[in-house]
Amino acid sequence: MLVDTEGLENFIDENAIHEIIRTTTQPESARVRDILDKAREAKGLTLEETACLLQAEDPELNEMIFETARAVKRAIYGNRLVLFAPLYVTNECGNNCTYCGFKADNTELDRRTLSPEELQREVRVLEDMGHKRLLLVYGEHPKFGADWIAETVQTVYDTVAEKSGEIRRVNINCAPLDVEGFRKLSDVGIGTYQCFQETYHTKTYAALHPTGHKKHFLWRLHALHRAMEAGIEDVGMGPLLGLYDYRFDILSCLAHAAELEKRFGVGPHTISFPRLEPALNADIAFNPPYPISDMQFKRLVAVLRLSVPYTGLILSTREDRIMRRELLDLGVSQISAGSRTYPGAYTDPNYDRPDVQQFCIGDNRSLEDVIQEIVQNGYIPSWCTACYRLGRTGEHFMELAKKGFIQEFCHPNSLFTFKEYLHDYAGEATRSIGIPLIQNEVDNFPAKRRDLVETRLHRIEEGERDLYL
Ligand code: SAM
Ligand code: SF4
Repeated sequence: MLVDTEGLENFIDENAIHEIIRTTTQPESARVRDILDKAREAKGLTLEETACLLQAEDPELNEMIFETARAVKRAIYGNRLVLFAPLYVTNECGNNCTYCGFKADNTELDRRTLSPEELQREVRVLEDMGHKRLLLVYGEHPKFGADWIAETVQTVYDTVAEKSGEIRRVNINCAPLDVEGFRKLSDVGIGTYQCFQETYHTKTYAALHPTGHKKHFLWRLHALHRAMEAGIEDVGMGPLLGLYDYRFDILSCLAHAAELEKRFGVGPHTISFPRLEPALNADIAFNPPYPISDMQFKRLVAVLRLSVPYTGLILSTREDRIMRRELLDLGVSQISAGSRTYPGAYTDPNYDRPDVQQFCIGDNRSLEDVIQEIVQNGYIPSWCTACYRLGRTGEHFMELAKKGFIQEFCHPNSLFTFKEYLHDYAGEATRSIGIPLIQNEVDNFPAKRRDLVETRLHRIEEGERDLYL
């Protein structure tokens, strides 16, 4: 694949974004209240309004932002929470991102690329835990092209564990491809293509990505355009927080989202907001040049929820249990759980391995432990993949989401997948809290919907699988 940046424009106007930040520092309380009134309507916010909220540091205003975010989150997403696991396929990489344990210059890292058989073994372990949605993660090595990536996706879809069933949606986080390459991923049926810009500040980007394909800022900036051009309707974006001023990178990310919407009629399906985590031989990851405090981070998630109410917000296990718990209420709609961050990790009995992993994770709990906690907090874990499989993706999904579809379809579907989980994978402790939660949700449906949901839950009890609306 040739990296070709000719004719590509930087649609992020750095000066304009810096100017927005400058003119909205310490916003007036009345201004913040007005913006929150608008945010309650769940129609999104402008960059200027978003910048005001990001910089409202007064504790009382913060609490108001949090309250509004909780209300919007609940109104759109209810109490369901989508779960997935990352699966690292290779840690071989030709780039030198200064913050990443997989960088080419890190000679102490044990390099591994899963063979098809090893990949199958990893998938079976994840299937036996109850996972139905995976995010495949790849280093960027010139020897691995789109054909190979597509083959690994196919291997995952083809792997069905005897005990427990199949993976129903494979998302991808790999380096940017050309349109032809993305078409191969589209043809093999990937769900979301995810690519983080890391930082939108070109000077910082250049300093942190000195060699390899990734040094080409514009090639990466246009990756999601190429993916959408190739027919991948769900794309995911995000900055890596800690590399540059988080306000600049979040606003730029939203400008990126707006650019996609202008061009393709739909913005990103998901936004992620990873914070830098310690990684082997990556000093900058231990001492981020622009650290972001926990309070700033929480506010940022709440503000994202208000700024792009219908975009999924993804939280990984980089964050610890307490932070993850708080962010669920403030806006997060998808979390990874039981994650490990190196190739072969799920079949490795000694999985605490800094010599192979990409970065350290903050929440080491098993999938089942995470599920128990979220159920105790009133959330329904969901492995639903109905939209993607029924073609409700991209613009189509967004239109439906705006009409309250998430509550009407996604909510029952989450109950069906949770019921399957309880039946096929959960231990007694999880069942004892999960079954009453499902019953309570069923009781709260209007009568007509309740009958339909109850019938399907009964069919699952009887052994049918993969039912959805
Ligand atoms: N190699 C591909 C790429 O760079 O786009 C995809 C996989 S890469 C492992 C996925 C993401 O991990 C990167 O986009 C980056 O945001 C994140 N990452 C890298 N180093 C990290 C660190 N030390 N802490 C947290 N996240 C990190
Ligand atoms: Fe390689 Fe991606 Fe890590 Fe950069 S972030 S070193 S491209 S794996």
